Amino acid sequence: MNDTNNINRRKFLGLIGCCTCGLIIPSCTTVPITERRQLSLLPESYINKHAFRLYENVKRKTKLSDNKKILTEIENVGRRIEESVSSYFDSANKKDPTYNFQWEYILIDNDKIKNAWCLPGGKIAVYTGILEVTKNIHGLAAVMGHEIAHAVAKHSIERASRSLILNIGTTAADIASGGAITRTSRATGVDVAGMLRTFGIDNPFGRKQESEADYLGLIFSSLAGYDIRESVKIWERMQKLNKGQEIPEWMSTHPSSKRRINSLTKWIPEIIVEYPPINKIN
Ligand SMILES: [Zn+2]
Repeated sequence: MNDTNNINRRKFLGLIGCCTCGLIIPSCTTVPITERRQLSLLPESYINKHAFRLYENVKRKTKLSDNKKILTEIENVGRRIEESVSSYFDSANKKDPTYNFQWEYILIDNDKIKNAWCLPGGKIAVYTGILEVTKNIHGLAAVMGHEIAHAVAKHSIERASRSLILNIGTTAADIASGGAITRTSRATGVDVAGMLRTFGIDNPFGRKQESEADYLGLIFSSLAGYDIRESVKIWERMQKLNKGQEIPEWMSTHPSSKRRINSLTKWIPEIIVEYPPINKIN
């Protein structure tokens, strides 16, 4: 890259970086509730379209569990969170960030993977492996609340926007037209692992986003009427299961379990008071 390009790139990054000044930048959005300003260069409809295609591939290529009882439990917890999130934004007279979601739930039969995710647009997957960590519906709600929070806060769009700048540089017109991401997804084709990577699903989001998802996740589970104190127990169980294997926090973007537990413990009492159940559990 020559000098002129470097300068232009710096100027461009400078412009993008000035998110917080709130001037002339049409490329920023605000995360609901936390009101953090975030970079948003790609249209949500575009990201969702790719996410939905990926979800169909996951359904075709992975072994889905035939445990109907647990799937129904997941769907019930999910639906309760869906409704609570929408009612919350409606009652606060704010735009519901999930108005265009097409909620769907699958249970993937894999006891080794202790994970769950929610693709942009509300496409959720829970792996059977995480059930030994979640233990009960409150635990399930904590995990699902966290994953749903990533989608509500549009973290994938933010991440894709950032990587477009870092990888592709100054081709703003290309970004605006969506050309760049089309090429990226064409390159990864229908490769499920590659596409999960594109959405940031295969490894944690940045630390700020993880902590934001923890916070919003607690709010959503509380609004849905679940006992959010269970979230701390989940991280304690996770810590036990991972004993000796945990990557030190400074090496990863993921907050350590200990740091996570500290933040959750601090937030829980406030959230219980400020975000009481919109739906009572029957
Ligand atoms: Zn997360």
